[in-house]
Amino acid sequence: MPDQNVIVLTAPSGAGKTTIAHRVLEQMPEMQFSVSATTRPARPDEVDGEDYHFLSVDEFQRRIDNGDLLEYEEVYPDQFYGTLRSEIETKSEEGPVLLDIDVDGATNVKAAFGDDALVLFVAPPSKEELRSRLQGRGTENDQALADRLARADRELEKAESFDGVVVNDDLEEAVQETLDRIHQFLEL
Ligand code: 5GP
Repeated sequence: MPDQNVIVLTAPSGAGKTTIAHRVLEQMPEMQFSVSATTRPARPDEVDGEDYHFLSVDEFQRRIDNGDLLEYEEVYPDQFYGTLRSEIETKSEEGPVLLDIDVDGATNVKAAFGDDALVLFVAPPSKEELRSRLQGRGTENDQALADRLARADRELEKAESFDGVVVNDDLEEAVQETLDRIHQFLEL
């Protein structure tokens, strides 16, 4: 078994962690991305197998029954998301692995990996800013937006329970802080 250095970015939806994750991957060519499985439909700009493995609910259930998932959550009603064990196992042979997952999933990954995982919570500067970013993104209908905001309240309360908090006010600064913390963790 190779060293499994796992870096987790977690945050409420809309805090900007996916943007930060993409930037980290650009800056650190050795970093591998753990492509999650999900039952939510793909957004127009998303590619199956790159952003997510888009699965039907039946296929997702089959993966659960098979024990293929390290963790999974019903993040929103009928929308399941999970980390595939195979992603971490295969990709950690190539380098540290980056996960972009929700707060409950991050808690479970930390419990599984302990000191082999660095979990960073990406916080929006304020709840008002989170709302306006989610509205501006325009990818969610009213119900999905309300679900995400309700969930965000609960998630923000858990920020301090992780290994570090990165406030995403200025994106460039947030990316740099994330990179600094990852380098420190990996002792680069
Ligand atoms: P979105 O639909 O906006 O891409 O993602 C919704 C939420 O699900 C985000 O917080 C995202 O990080 C989270 N998520 C994505 N993949 C996983 C996963 O594999 N496991 C868990 N627990 N959450 C995930």
